[in-house]
Amino acid sequence: MDIKLQQVGFSYAAGTPFEKRALYEVDFKIPTGTYQAIIGHTGSGKSTVLQHFNALLKPTVGEVAIGEFNIKASEKKPKNIKEMRQHVGIVFQFPEHQLFEETVLKDIMFGPINFGVGEDEAKRRAEQLIEQVGLPTSILNKSPFDLSGGQMRRVAIAGVLAMKPDVIVLDEPTAGLDPKGQKEMMDMFYRLHKEEGLTTILVTHSMEDAARYADDIIIMHDGTNVLQGEPRQIFADHLALKKYRLEPPRIVRFQEKVEQLLGKALPKVCLTEEE
Ligand code: ADP
Repeated sequence: MDIKLQQVGFSYAAGTPFEKRALYEVDFKIPTGTYQAIIGHTGSGKSTVLQHFNALLKPTVGEVAIGEFNIKASEKKPKNIKEMRQHVGIVFQFPEHQLFEETVLKDIMFGPINFGVGEDEAKRRAEQLIEQVGLPTSILNKSPFDLSGGQMRRVAIAGVLAMKPDVIVLDEPTAGLDPKGQKEMMDMFYRLHKEEGLTTILVTHSMEDAARYADDIIIMHDGTNVLQGEPRQIFADHLALKKYRLEPPRIVRFQEKVEQLLGKALPKVCLTEEE
C-alpha cells in the first residue's frame, strides 16, 4: 500500500498554552514495496512523522493516506483506524521492553489472537516467524526473559510481523546492539523486505545503513521534509548534507573513490569496505 502525506502539520498539546509545533507541510509519497530511509538531525521531526504512519498521532493539518485508509485533520473521528493499524507494524526503539508473556510462543501469538486470529493460525505464524527472525523453534517454549538482549529483540519483532503487516516501520532498530548484532539485524530486515515484499521504513541516525539498504531517502529538517532521492544522489549533495548537519557515510565516499579508479559508475551503493 502506498503511503502519502499531504501538507501534514502537527502540534503537540494543540490548543493549550504548551502547544509545540513539531511538523510543518510534510509532503511525501512512499510507493508500495519501497525500502525507505528517513534521516535527519535530532529534533527534526522523524519520530513525530513515524507515529503518523499508524495513527498514533493524527495530523493537526493536512492528510495521511495509508493505502485506501485516510486520516484527515478535518475529521474528528477517522473511521477504520483499528483495521488500518493491522497493515502497519511499528518496531519501536528497544521493542524487547514490551515483552511480557510467560513464553516466547504466547508473546508472538498475543497480537493475532487479540485481533481475532484463531489459535492454530497464530501458532503456525509464530513457528514460521521465529525461523524468519533467525531463532531456533526450540526457543518458543522458553520465557522471553531467559533470552539474550538480541534474541529478545528478535522475538519482539516476530510479534510485530505476526500481524502480517504490509508495511513495517523501524525506529532505530539497532540501538544498543554491538556492531556484529547491528549488521545481523539490518541484514535480517533486508531479507524480510525482499522475501516478503514488505514496504520498509527505516528511521535512523546511521547514514551507513541508509546508504547500504534503502532504495530512497527522505531528509527531515526543522519539522519538514527537505530532500528526497536515491542514496547516491542524496549523499553526492555535499552542500545539502552540510546544511542539514549530516555526515556523508564512509561507504559512499569509499565507493566514489573506487569509481574514480575504475572510471565508471557502479549501480547503487554496492560495495562493502571488506570488498
Ligand atoms: P526526532 O525524532 O527527529 O528527534 P521528534 O519528532 O522527536 O524529532 O521532535 C520534533 C520536535 O517536536 C522537537 O522540537 C521536539 O522537541 C518536539 N517534541 C517531540 N515530542 C514532544 C512531546 N511529547 N511534547 C512536546 N514536544 C515534543
